[in-house]
Amino acid sequence: MSSEQERARRVVPFRAKVVEPIHLLPREERSRRIERAGLCLFALKGDDVYVDLLTDSGTGSLSTNQLAAMMTGDESYAGSRSFDKMADRFREITGLPFVIPSHQGRGAERVLNSVLVRPHSIVPGNSHFDTTKAHIELAGGRCVDCTIEAGKDSATVHPFKGNVDVPKLQKTIEEVGARNVAYVLITITCNSGGGQPVSMANIREVSTLCRARGVPVFFDAARFAENAWFIREREAGYGNKPVREIVREMFSYVDGCTMSSKKDAIVPMGGLIAVRDQGLFDALKTPTILFEGFYTYGGMSGMMMEALAQGLDDVMQEDYLRHRIGQIAQLGAGLRAAGVPIVEPVGGHAVFVDGRRFYPHVPEDQFPAQLLCVELYKEGGVRTVEVGANLIGRDPDTGENIRPALDLCRLAVPRRAYFQEHLDYVVDVVATVFEGQRDRTRGLAFEHEAAGIRHFSSTFRYL
Ligand SMILES: *Cc1c(COP(=O)(O)O)cnc(C)c1O
Repeated sequence: MSSEQERARRVVPFRAKVVEPIHLLPREERSRRIERAGLCLFALKGDDVYVDLLTDSGTGSLSTNQLAAMMTGDESYAGSRSFDKMADRFREITGLPFVIPSHQGRGAERVLNSVLVRPHSIVPGNSHFDTTKAHIELAGGRCVDCTIEAGKDSATVHPFKGNVDVPKLQKTIEEVGARNVAYVLITITCNSGGGQPVSMANIREVSTLCRARGVPVFFDAARFAENAWFIREREAGYGNKPVREIVREMFSYVDGCTMSSKKDAIVPMGGLIAVRDQGLFDALKTPTILFEGFYTYGGMSGMMMEALAQGLDDVMQEDYLRHRIGQIAQLGAGLRAAGVPIVEPVGGHAVFVDGRRFYPHVPEDQFPAQLLCVELYKEGGVRTVEVGANLIGRDPDTGENIRPALDLCRLAVPRRAYFQEHLDYVVDVVATVFEGQRDRTRGLAFEHEAAGIRHFSSTFRYL
C-alpha cells in the first residue's frame, strides 16, 4: 500500500479516446530494414518503428480540447481570430505584449536574428541549440557558450545544470563591449543533457547583469513549462507557487523569446516570437512576411494556432507536468536499476545513455553510440538518435573529426503519447542489449559520409 501522496504521483491525467495502431515487425524484418537504411535511423520509415523515441518535437498527442478548438480555426489571411486567441494566450502567460507566429522554431530564429544580429556581434548563452547557433552564424554573428562547468560533465549532479555561468558571461560582455553583444540567449530547458533546467535565481542574475549594461535578454522557450516545473520542484521558495506564477516571473526578466511550439505547446507544427518593445516588433514584420508569411499567420494555419493556444493551457496543468517529468524520471530509474550508464541527473524530455561506457571495448572512433541506436532498433524496434561523434561532425577549419566530450544515445519521450508499458518495454530492450553485448569490440565506420549536417543522412557499415 502506498500513501495518498505517493498515489497522487502516479496519476495519469489523460486517457485514450482515439488510438493510433503501431506494430512490432519481426526481428528478421527489422534487421533487413535497418540494413537497407544504411544503419541510419533517420532513413527508417515511421512504420518500421514500434516505439519512436527519436524526438519529442511535434510528436505529442493532441487533447480533445485542442481538437475541438481546431474546428473553430479562422483561416483569414490577415487578422485571423485564431491568431488573436493564440497571441492573447501567450501575452497572458508571459506578459510579453507583441507576438508573431512562425512555421516552427527555426523560422522564428531566422526572423529574429536577421534583425538583432549584425556581422561580428556575439550572442552568449547556455549551450545554444543547433539550429539556433546556425541562424546566429548565418546572420554574421557568433555564439559564446557560457554554461556552468557542472553542465558539461555527465557525472556531476547539480539541480540546475542548464544555468549560465554569470562571471563568465560578465567577462565575455566586458571583453567585446556591450555594444557588440546582440543579445543574451537563455535556453529553457537547456537541450544539452536532455533538458537540464535553469533556476529562477540564475535567470534573475543574468537579467540584472544585462539590464545594467543595456544588453537584451531572450529565452529560447521551447520547454518553458518543463523548466517552471523543475523550479517548483527544486528551488527554495517555489514549492507552493502555482506554475503560472512561476512562468510569469521567469518571463518578467526577459525582453522577448523565440519558441518552437512543437515542444511545450504540444502541436505538430508551429513556433513564435514574442517581444516587449514595439520598435523591435515593427522591425520584425518585414522579415516575417518574407520568410514566414503575413504576421498574423507566419506559416501556421488558423487550426494550428487554435491548437497552439489550447496547448499552452494544457502544458501548464500541474498534473500534466507531474506526470510528464515523472515519466522521464521513471525511464531513467529503470535504466539505472538495470546498470545501464546514463547521464545524471535525468532532464525534462529525454534520457541519454553513455555509448562509451555502454560499449567499453568499442574504440571511440567507431561510433559506439550510433552502434547502440542501431542495436536498440534491431532488438526491439525502438528508434533513438545519436548525439555524439556522428552528430558533431568535422572541424570546419581542419577537416578533422571532432571528438565530443560525450558520445550519447538519446531516448526522447513524446508528450502524452506513450504509456508506462511502452517505456517498461524500452527499458527491457536496452537492458537486453546491455547484458548481451557488453564485450563487443567492434563498432561502425561510414559507408557514405554526407557533407555538412551529416547525421541526418550518413550511412554506416559494421566493422
Ligand atoms: C526544437 C528546438 C528549436 C528549433 O525548433 P524547430 O521547431 O525544430 O525548428 C530551437 N531551440 C530548441 C531549444 C529546441 O528544442
